[in-house]
Amino acid sequence: MKYPIIFLGAGPGDPELITLKGRRLLDEAELIVYAGSLVNPALLDGVKAEIHDSAGMTLDAVLAVLVAAWQAGKKAVRLHTGDPALYGAIREQMQRLDQEGIVYEVVPGVSSAFAAAAALRAELTVPEVTQTVIFTRIGGRTPVPEQESLRKLAAIQASMCIFLSVGMIEQVAAQLVAGGYSADTSVAVVEKASWPEERIVRGQLADIADKVQAADIRKTAMILVGAALSNEATAASRLYDAEFSHGCRESQKE
Ligand code: SAH
Repeated sequence: MKYPIIFLGAGPGDPELITLKGRRLLDEAELIVYAGSLVNPALLDGVKAEIHDSAGMTLDAVLAVLVAAWQAGKKAVRLHTGDPALYGAIREQMQRLDQEGIVYEVVPGVSSAFAAAAALRAELTVPEVTQTVIFTRIGGRTPVPEQESLRKLAAIQASMCIFLSVGMIEQVAAQLVAGGYSADTSVAVVEKASWPEERIVRGQLADIADKVQAADIRKTAMILVGAALSNEATAASRLYDAEFSHGCRESQKE
């Protein structure tokens, strides 16, 4: 019998922020390939599997290890940081497995976007402020299509979770302001959300770059932007409004 290869979301860092299913799959695994630069190695404490760090491996090398394990009937796990669907580069791996007729499954995880929001005690979708969240990044060595540049996305005025970009925080802030966010829009940078060494820098688009540089944050950080992050009083959600009926509760209004 062959077990599907599992692409598994490790969560943002805290070893308790993995799903129960993910924890079981790690404990049962016979081979684990993990992204050593971001996944907390504490997740691998006590596992019986043979472990490979993908940091120094090419796509071919990663696939060769996974496929060999699959062929040998072993339980193989490819462990990705956060949720594998966001900047996980899983599609290229899955396409190759499709070509070779190898079965796999994806098990979700807690994205660092949500760990960062939790650290800030923020709701990203505040009624009458914004009901939209954008996951994006600034173009770097990996280009971003022009129609979704930060400058263009800024026009939407949604909440934004900006991955992989803290090293270019100055350009991020400049493009967001050029695109339409006011310079006093709230922004926060959360470094290593959910890790013991987590750090938070809060500011406005006008001053965040200086603050991040002063704090010397260069990588493994989430940038969250938008009016939802400010503490100004906002409309309450209608979900818990006594005068609003929904599927689980009748309105108390006569
Ligand atoms: N799939 C991952 C993202 C991988 S891309 C997820 O869902 O979180 C790597 C980027 O994610 C980093 O550059 C950083 O922007 C962000 N990131 C990953 N872990 C983080 C953490 N613990 N705290 C803050 N940002 C993190």
